[in-house]
Amino acid sequence: MQYEHILIRYGELSTKKRNRNYFVNRLKKNIKGKLREFENIEIEKQRDRMYIKLNDEPYEKIIEKLSSIFGIHSFSLAIKTLSDIEKIKEGALEAIKELGPEGKTFKVTAKRANKQFPLNSNELNYEIGSHILRNIQDLTVNVHEPDINLRVEVRHNATYITFKDISGAGGFPVGTSGKAMLMLSGGIDSPVAGYLAMKRGLEVEAVHFYSPPFTSERSKQKVIDLAKKLTDYTDSIKLHIVPFTNIQQVIQQKIPDNYTMTSTRRLMLQITDQLRQKNDALAIINGESLGQVASQTLESMYTINEVTSTPIIRPLITMDKLEIIDISKQIDTHDISIRPYEDCCTIFTPTSPKTKPKRDKINHFESFVDFDSLISEAVSGTETIVIRNDKELTNKENIESLF
Ligand code: ATP
Ligand code: MG
Repeated sequence: MQYEHILIRYGELSTKKRNRNYFVNRLKKNIKGKLREFENIEIEKQRDRMYIKLNDEPYEKIIEKLSSIFGIHSFSLAIKTLSDIEKIKEGALEAIKELGPEGKTFKVTAKRANKQFPLNSNELNYEIGSHILRNIQDLTVNVHEPDINLRVEVRHNATYITFKDISGAGGFPVGTSGKAMLMLSGGIDSPVAGYLAMKRGLEVEAVHFYSPPFTSERSKQKVIDLAKKLTDYTDSIKLHIVPFTNIQQVIQQKIPDNYTMTSTRRLMLQITDQLRQKNDALAIINGESLGQVASQTLESMYTINEVTSTPIIRPLITMDKLEIIDISKQIDTHDISIRPYEDCCTIFTPTSPKTKPKRDKINHFESFVDFDSLISEAVSGTETIVIRNDKELTNKENIESLF
């Protein structure tokens, strides 16, 4: 049987009454971007559903792409018929035959969006169900726990028959909550934080600090690969790569050893904040989790956070490491994150960083250095690349020539 349509249900966003148009339009745009390579599909949006007309494009590949688009609650392959009872019965029978129904139980769940349709839902269930029973032997009805639930939606222009719901990724369409800068290291946590933020509708631009020659090309490649993985959930991601060597060396020379970590974080935050402003974003996302390391105690966060009043979103703040690792495996970033390449922070980690750094102390230490001009230098030396979902990253030279 040739499936002609995919029916998409929105889930949580269909409860957002006032902003619904905005959400639905953005979802359509995101779906269009993600399915760009399938040139023949047509997307039709309605108030509470979207339909993709396949026009012979391969549904398996499209389903795979759809399952990582946020804002979709569920979707189903569908057969479309005219809203005419004989055509509906025919279509329903054809659909159920496809499933090898012998020995199974089924029910029909009909819904009328078109109240002018001459049969009500119960009558539809009965008509369709008995037509199926007459034509297929060894199939029984079970209204409570059927093996097959054949859903029939009678709408004004057409009727859609679906029989299997595929779970969508949930959340809100990327971009509908605004834009934020994601501080992306090569570790396990920050890609997960980015994923969760995108799930809640944020568009992200990634910021990575690197310190050549202390960090290698391979560790930069790791971050590019992580950002590429995150494009599974969006069309493309901008990655800002900030040269950080100079600042880290100044910190090593001028700040007492047990406060270097605190200062490093404060500078990263200030630079990220300037990049945020330049790129019209309203928040910063990081992968911090309370108590995980010295820089993530409440006292540390209080002292580091002093440098900005920009909202900082910390999706992992209350999660255990094992929970974070679970998500990283699920979104396939884990194996990239555990590649053993050095990160700028791990290289300069002091032997005993302060777990309770004080604001007045760090302000005093930092007052002897002209960090403002170092920050401006880092911001103006930042290079930006755009990583697109539909472009392969296999050609190493190509990527490196972008720097
Ligand atoms: P991660 O897995 O994210 O590296 P971590 O446990 O190693 O987490 P830290 O190194 O303390 O955590 O970093 C805390 C957060 O600071 C990271 O989640 C990330 O958001 C940000 N961060 C750390 N290093 C960098 C970097 N080199 N570039 C950009 N952001 C960074
Ligand atoms: Mg890290």
